[in-house]
Amino acid sequence: MAYVIAEPCIGTKDTACVDACPVDCIHPKKDEDKYDAATQLYIDPVECIDCGACVPVCPVSAIFALDDLPEKWANYAQTNAEFFGR
Ligand code: SF4
Repeated sequence: MAYVIAEPCIGTKDTACVDACPVDCIHPKKDEDKYDAATQLYIDPVECIDCGACVPVCPVSAIFALDDLPEKWANYAQTNAEFFGR
């Protein structure tokens, strides 16, 4: 399992989650080339350790454990993984 960033992040890209993540698996970060072009941030499903630290810091409640991902946003599990070529 991994955590997934869903639709509320689009256009928000707050990055508080990036600072909260202990394993640096949320990208792109503000200083990365892909940040400006990215519509949202993504979680690397291979690197995520399922700690949940990113969830409470998100101002738009965009982050869900895979098991809790709302059905309407189910495709975001794949979108997050694809960003990392997973
Ligand atoms: Fe990072 Fe933990 Fe959030 Fe996974 S659940 S993205 S490891 S802060």
